[in-house]
Amino acid sequence: MSDKNATEMLRADPAGVSRAAEIVRGGGIVAVPTETVYGLAARADSDAAIARIYAAKGRPSINPLIVHIASMDEARKVADFSDEAERVAARVWPGSVTLVLPRRKDADLANAISAGLPTIAVRMPDHQVMRALITRVGVPLGAPSANLSNTVSPTSAHHVAATLDGRIDMILDGGDCPTGLESSILAIRQNGRWDQLRAGPVDLDALHRQLYGSALAPVQPSASIEAPGQLTRHYSPGKPVRLSASTKKNGEFLIGFGSSGGDCNLSESGNLQEAAARLYACLHLAAQSSRPRIAVSRIPDKGIGKAINDRLRRAAS
Ligand code: AMP
Ligand code: MG
Repeated sequence: MSDKNATEMLRADPAGVSRAAEIVRGGGIVAVPTETVYGLAARADSDAAIARIYAAKGRPSINPLIVHIASMDEARKVADFSDEAERVAARVWPGSVTLVLPRRKDADLANAISAGLPTIAVRMPDHQVMRALITRVGVPLGAPSANLSNTVSPTSAHHVAATLDGRIDMILDGGDCPTGLESSILAIRQNGRWDQLRAGPVDLDALHRQLYGSALAPVQPSASIEAPGQLTRHYSPGKPVRLSASTKKNGEFLIGFGSSGGDCNLSESGNLQEAAARLYACLHLAAQSSRPRIAVSRIPDKGIGKAINDRLRRAAS
């Protein structure tokens, strides 16, 4: 093809991953499946590559990125791990928890990646395609969700193409994301205090109880100022959203749960994991439908249901 803005779409097989690694190593930006949502990956040590991510997404420069690593050796080169952070990492990685820790002064990272903060967000993903890509490129990757800023997050290659086609170098199609919600974000402070900065697939309150036998303290007000991405309207389907709907009104696209039916049902058996994995696909369908409004059935506020409700409240705000 001669159009130099065309975005390649390749299957996430070994040849596809190899091609993606070549592009990323050369400073390009590639959408890649992870267990949470599709990420838009670039080498974390390149100012130019990280700038391309912000530009492609239309992301405000005050909203920092998560650095994805494939080993603890890599993690310890970008962040200062206290004994407690080591203990938590050993417990949750690889997996859907992002740790916010002090950024190492000598970290080989683009400045813009942490938006000028003294901390850095780090995660070791548990998806073989993303892990293979990090390993092949050989340096940590900065990777926010692979969508235009303020739109619904992508859980399929098709969702990525819907907003980023022509704006990025390549999409690796690895099928649907198994977990389907962005990572839980946990800041571990130098005094040992935990701040949950974003609810996600892993229940941080339950984790704190397992490790320390006590509940997670409520979030300090300063924590939300530190994470600007959490304050802005996010995950917006671009239409009014009505929550805890028991019936469908005229003009509404109903996202149901359990026996409530709906135009798209999150989980007919009432399984919250399944509902999380299907949430963004249903929101994408609702956004594309000709109905002007969206209604969503009540989702139980327990376990991963807390993270689903967090995303729905943002979609409705
Ligand atoms: P996304 O990858 O699009 O899900 O966005 C990453 C999220 O991580 C955003 O909400 C950021 O605000 C948050 N984040 C990244 N780095 C930091 C940091 N150093 N401190 C607090 N939050 C962070
Ligand atoms: Mg995002």
